[in-house]
Amino acid sequence: MEKRDYYEVLGVSKSATADEIKKAYRKLSKTYHPDINKEADADAKFKEIAEAYEVLSDPQAKARYDQYGHQDPNQGFGGGGGGGFGGFEDIFSSFFGGGGGGRRRDPNAPQKGNDLQYSMTISFEEAVFGAEKEVEIPRDETCDNCHGSGAKPGTSKKTCTTCHGSGSVEEAVNTPFGQMVNRRTCKTCAGTGSIIEEKCNKCHGQGTIKRRKKIKVSIPAGIDDGQQLRVSGQGEAGVNGGPTGDLYIVFRVRPSDKFERDGDDIYYELNLTFAQAALGDEIEIPTVKGKVKMKIPAGTQSNERFRLKGKGIENVQGYGVGDQHVIVKVVTPKKMTEKQKELLREFANISGDIPEEQSSSLFDKIKKKFRD
Ligand SMILES: [Zn+2]
Ligand SMILES: [Zn+2]
Repeated sequence: MEKRDYYEVLGVSKSATADEIKKAYRKLSKTYHPDINKEADADAKFKEIAEAYEVLSDPQAKARYDQYGHQDPNQGFGGGGGGGFGGFEDIFSSFFGGGGGGRRRDPNAPQKGNDLQYSMTISFEEAVFGAEKEVEIPRDETCDNCHGSGAKPGTSKKTCTTCHGSGSVEEAVNTPFGQMVNRRTCKTCAGTGSIIEEKCNKCHGQGTIKRRKKIKVSIPAGIDDGQQLRVSGQGEAGVNGGPTGDLYIVFRVRPSDKFERDGDDIYYELNLTFAQAALGDEIEIPTVKGKVKMKIPAGTQSNERFRLKGKGIENVQGYGVGDQHVIVKVVTPKKMTEKQKELLREFANISGDIPEEQSSSLFDKIKKKFRD
């Protein structure tokens, strides 16, 4: 079955705010909750809604989805990869105020290291053409002395005898409602499931060391403000032999003083003199790719737009190239010589008023109404 668009699933627009997404999800999840809704497909609907929400409520996952849709080359969220999705409890506990306290997981299982996020400010040109940059990221790396075990070389971690490696212990508590079993984190091993008798002297038992690492980043041409790049395996060290996390670089693009950017399109404001606009001209116009010649037809008006096809920005994912839109602004001179004034008065004398069909300002229309 074709996977539906997550925004469509939640019935919100692509520009919906986090709050709107949350509201839509709450409403739908109540309608289709399998405990309430007994229709045959309620369960499948509910899962679909929860999956859409899981992605759209997470700013990072949402940004990736917005960029790649269901074909995210990086991450398998929900994409049938077996991993991605498993968090009903998480979604609900975050709604209903539970802090996700008593989650059980095997403390000895390999865990992926934390992802890191780094914000990088680049120039307008670097965003358009791409660039090679080096960043220095402080991160936890696997300790090379103990190879991440935290134990002094030659010794090893021992399984915790209090919790037998599970990291948590059960405790029977008598309450007025009868006996209840509480599960809490093992105090002996602090939930790690193991005890280090002789700690590694380099990382003091942590298994990781904070280091500043220089990483080369290839900024792809066409990247836009707010977009992010995933650098695989450059996050923090994994735990218990788990894989290293990833590094996400979020780009901030400094604006250009010449061009306005919207997606892959460029907007450029072109100032023309009254004479150029009236008589037409052939001029050179700057584009992100250098100067191009452009013909201004006679009788060009202020706010008139011209499109220079293909003179915009190469799409970051290779989907073609944008255009440059040129918006004309006819500039009235503020200072004139006597000679200029004289000629202009003469021009005005032989021109008369603006013909009716060209005077389309609101004010003129009102005047006309009163006259009729
Ligand atoms: Zn160590
Ligand atoms: Zn323990």
